[in-house]
Amino acid sequence: MIPPPFTYAAPASLEEALALLQQHGPMAKILAGGHSLLPMMKLRLLEPEVLIDLRRVPGLADIREENGYLHIGAMVREVELEEHPLIREKYPLLHETTRWIADPQVRNMGTVGGNLAHGDPGNDHPATMMAYDAQFVVVGPRGERVIPAREFFLDFYTTALESDEILTAIRIPTPPPRSGGAYEKLERKVGDYAAAAVAVQLSLAEDGTLSYVGIGLTNVAHVPLFAARSCAHLQGQRPTPERIDEAARMASEDCNPRSDLRGSAEYKRAMVRELTHRAFRRALERAQG
Ligand code: FAD
Repeated sequence: MIPPPFTYAAPASLEEALALLQQHGPMAKILAGGHSLLPMMKLRLLEPEVLIDLRRVPGLADIREENGYLHIGAMVREVELEEHPLIREKYPLLHETTRWIADPQVRNMGTVGGNLAHGDPGNDHPATMMAYDAQFVVVGPRGERVIPAREFFLDFYTTALESDEILTAIRIPTPPPRSGGAYEKLERKVGDYAAAAVAVQLSLAEDGTLSYVGIGLTNVAHVPLFAARSCAHLQGQRPTPERIDEAARMASEDCNPRSDLRGSAEYKRAMVRELTHRAFRRALERAQG
């Protein structure tokens, strides 16, 4: 399949990229790794007239800890997250999530910013970013704004990003000691999008109660979901088997999956309950060291 004709621009600065977005309006699209955008163009689901490639824009590909956050530039590729020692050691939830994405070819090109900006409920990073309570840094003609991950995903393939804005970075709060996270994904075959997946990030207080719990759900609604009721049920409490089971039951009740080739809605709900259990157990083991 061949995409419709388009003009290609490769700006050398963020200012130039923003100016091009303003000039061409909704007929322009940002190009990052191209692994969601180009397939959609080939299927003629999107027909942008101008592609604005961010690859030459400096400052969008850093990974560093700064002021209590892990800063990840939007153009960081999945393979860079996967191989970064800091992420492997201190951010196991993010490391695991990245490794579950597609296959090495996709991870060599796909970017974390593209994965989030696309707004696909089947993508793996959104649930993880909600579990971490991450923030997204966005720049547009009105300046910079910071959008919490939990407020970013508005509808099916629709995010809080305006058409003249660029996602420049993701900020993940650095977890305190006695923290752990895990991602559990059920896929029909290796490299597929999730039939269902669950991201859990938690921290333990000195007395063994949960000082932080974040749970995100992938591909079990028309948007990535934050399991708010489950988190509220666990926050400040001891992680007893009964409490964890009740939180997992709430997550399966609060999602809204569709029956499709990856399974019936009923099956996916049951899997959300099971995957929440598994992810929580592994996150807790990591927090307990
Ligand atoms: P692009 O395709 O370049 O862009 C995607 C969208 O985001 C476009 O609308 C673009 O305009 C916009 N955009 C990109 N960057 C920015 C920015 N900085 N600011 C504003 N807008 C921006 N993903 C998963 O999570 N899990 C999977 O299991 C999975 N399986 C896949 C299997 C295959 C075969 C393929 C082809 C893809 C798969 N993906 C999967 C998707 C993959 O992770 C994509 O790379 C990702 O969704 C998009 O990232 P990208 O950098 O390629 O973005």
